[in-house]
Amino acid sequence: KEFDNIDLHSSLKKYFGFSQFKGLQEEVIKNVLRQNNTFVIMPTGGGKSLCYQLPALMQEGTAIIVSPLIALMKNQVDAIRGVSSENGIAHVLNSSLNKGEIKQVKQDITNGVTKLLYVAPESLTKEENVEFLRSVTISFVAVDEAHCISEWGHDFRPEYRNLKSIVERLGDNIPIIGLTATATPKVQEDIIKNLGIGGATLFKASFNRPNLFYEVRTKTENIEADIIRFVKQNSGKSGIIYCLSRKKVEELAQVLQVNGVSAVPYHAGFDAKTRSKYQDMFLMEDVDVVVATIAFGMGIDKPDVRFVIHHDIPKSIESYYQETGRAGRDGGEGHCLAYYSYKDIEKLEKFMSGKPVAEQEIGNALLQEVVAYAETSMSRRKFMLHYFGEEFDEVNGEGADMDDNTRNPKEKEEAKDGVEK
Ligand code: ADP
Ligand code: MG
Repeated sequence: KEFDNIDLHSSLKKYFGFSQFKGLQEEVIKNVLRQNNTFVIMPTGGGKSLCYQLPALMQEGTAIIVSPLIALMKNQVDAIRGVSSENGIAHVLNSSLNKGEIKQVKQDITNGVTKLLYVAPESLTKEENVEFLRSVTISFVAVDEAHCISEWGHDFRPEYRNLKSIVERLGDNIPIIGLTATATPKVQEDIIKNLGIGGATLFKASFNRPNLFYEVRTKTENIEADIIRFVKQNSGKSGIIYCLSRKKVEELAQVLQVNGVSAVPYHAGFDAKTRSKYQDMFLMEDVDVVVATIAFGMGIDKPDVRFVIHHDIPKSIESYYQETGRAGRDGGEGHCLAYYSYKDIEKLEKFMSGKPVAEQEIGNALLQEVVAYAETSMSRRKFMLHYFGEEFDEVNGEGADMDDNTRNPKEKEEAKDGVEK
């Protein structure tokens, strides 16, 4: 299939209104257009969707996009439809469609109008859908959020494991594109093995966030006073404070309020109306701080979050990276402070004790990495990037001095103590 840089850029402009590709997008897209299997690892917000959307729009046939969440699919379909006069250019195929709607979708695909077909894995595995899709031209299959394949990922979905055999039934040599923001080597191995894309070209963006400062403090009974002090020193700035339990969220929000900090609580126990009210108050800057469980943050795009505090240590380095990643999106400062005590680790272990053994083993292994991160005296950035399979030069790398250990090395303090005594 012929294509050149002019084609790519004019299509980018035409369909998305962008004049430049972001990061590795252009290289990825060229690889997809060459009908190669492709594996894309980019942090959240890196622009992965475009890596399959643009080649799908430029090619003949329909690209199948496997995605875990109906809400995600709907957003993308609406966005794509916005760039075309043709409503059928993108469709979602799922169990909520009625007979008439299904007929329309199939007609659009058969007529070559539909360039992107979004499906949840459980719809793709349905026999009647497989039978239909076998009879039409498929340009490629993109597996978004591909970490769902792996038990080592944070969102394991068993239905994701059968995709390879389905794709094989849809036709010969249909290219597969796997995409994820999960960079751990174990998850990557699982994805490659499961999708059978051993020969795929790997495109991996750096996960380094040089503008974020990482700090861990020992958790004591004075934690609330410590947090209040921190927030007051940063008054007028937006911040998120994550707590493990809903109860703690409400307590801490109240303590902050009583101490003159404008804060709202947020957790999944509030009804939708209350949740969106508190969320909007934070987004519109009616309040500085949101105290929340991890229910808060998915898809929240506030560029100037200046700090993310973890009142309780998270269950994996990955979650920590995702949650702290909400700070400093605009490239400005972002202080990531985690409170740590081994008691909290034991609490998390206890939470898991009711789960199946295999799940417990994985959960404990992930937790041990969190312990190592919290207790390390090396560059926290180096530790985290190493965890994601990335080398980091702790002397000259970008953001090299942006963590507590590098700023105040522990050995030095001890030596100083020795001299003074
Ligand atoms: P990911 O799936 O990697 O988390 P998305 O595909 O959702 O990221 O894209 C994140 C944001 O980047 C979106 O708002 C998207 O419109 C924007 N984006 C993607 N590519 C470009 C580009 N080439 N130029 C400008 N913005 C882009
Ligand atoms: Mg995405």
